[in-house]
Amino acid sequence: MAPYSSLHLPARDPHGEAIRRRLYIGAVCCGLLLLGFGVFSQRLTNLHEQYLLYIAPLLLLLGLVDLWWLLMKRSLIIAELAGVGVLAAATIAQVVMASRAPLPPGAYPNSGPYWLMVCVCLLAFLALPPRRAAAFNLVLVVTAVALPWVLLGSPGTHVAGLVRLQFLMRLQFNAVIVVLLIWGLAWFRTQHANQADTQELLRRMAFTDALTQLPNRHAVYPAVEALLSGAARGQAGSLFLIDLDHFKQINDQHGHAVGDEVLIAAGQVLRNCVSEIGAGPPTLGRWGGEEFIVIMPGTSPERARIRAEHLLSEFRAWPWPHGLRVTVSIGSSSVQLGEAFSGLLARADEALYAAKLSGRDRAVMHGSTLAPLR
Ligand code: GH3
Ligand code: MG
Ligand code: MG
Repeated sequence: MAPYSSLHLPARDPHGEAIRRRLYIGAVCCGLLLLGFGVFSQRLTNLHEQYLLYIAPLLLLLGLVDLWWLLMKRSLIIAELAGVGVLAAATIAQVVMASRAPLPPGAYPNSGPYWLMVCVCLLAFLALPPRRAAAFNLVLVVTAVALPWVLLGSPGTHVAGLVRLQFLMRLQFNAVIVVLLIWGLAWFRTQHANQADTQELLRRMAFTDALTQLPNRHAVYPAVEALLSGAARGQAGSLFLIDLDHFKQINDQHGHAVGDEVLIAAGQVLRNCVSEIGAGPPTLGRWGGEEFIVIMPGTSPERARIRAEHLLSEFRAWPWPHGLRVTVSIGSSSVQLGEAFSGLLARADEALYAAKLSGRDRAVMHGSTLAPLR
């Protein structure tokens, strides 16, 4: 990537996937430990709980595959979707088994299926787009809540049956409240993410030139300030004002669309050139109209002269659209102790004016006096 300061910021969340993968690996490991403990305790205590006998070992196996998949850095979304699907199926299976299992009178129903349901809902909100996650969770919760009522049937006037249903209602109510809380948090998170995205977009737009995608005038000011404060510490620094020659003629003869194409290409030429410059990263920007600015920290007037020569030859050699020949004039000034931005810029402007006057397609350096490049 070119080393100039640009607004082509990396994606907002470059490490997001890596963090999610780590979180997911942690969650799978916890799940595996819990399942392993469940299966192990089943063996020790001979509980004969159907879920621990048949489903948990299968989940343990699938969890290990999932873990291997994640550690091998394979597609995270597939791992997440498979995880959500398998756990949702396991939830329903556990609900059915728990509803069918006989319960001693007065015992509280097995809350395991509803804990699993809460975990699946959480995972779905993390893995799926918000609307899909909401729809998926709605179906899962309604199914998990309704199934026991269908399977248990009417208790009639049987007291133990009535108590069981009362406990079940309380358990389901608590689980649904937790799911609703997760839902609320997921909604809040989505809103926050949208707001952050919008702010980032606005920030980019405020500092980027829409045509060339180069930093605009606002965006280069901090680089100029840095150049001037470097001068106070005795550091060299130079600035180019670059203006396309006879650009109006291109617009007049070929139309504004071609003019725009030329401006975009000019931005590309400048990007290529500054990326070849080895010393401290220069800042490149569109100053306005067909004028560009390059701010070069640590660049002495002598180095600036070489760079200007290089830039001029790049512009001459570029394969311009529609076979056009495009040249630029460059005005350069180098920082002086105690000088303000307006002074530095005025000298570059003066040099640019001199370059235009003396025939264009050339650079003029403003030292204490104006010095044409050739
Ligand atoms: P010189 O060599 O003296 O610089 O002459 P010039 O024709 O390049 O300069 P002049 O200032 O006369 O004309 C600049 C033109 O640039 C006028 C304006 O319409 C055009 N221009 C400014 N911004 C844009 C733009 O974004 N797109 C297009 N197509 N033209 C633009
Ligand atoms: Mg101009
Ligand atoms: Mg011009």
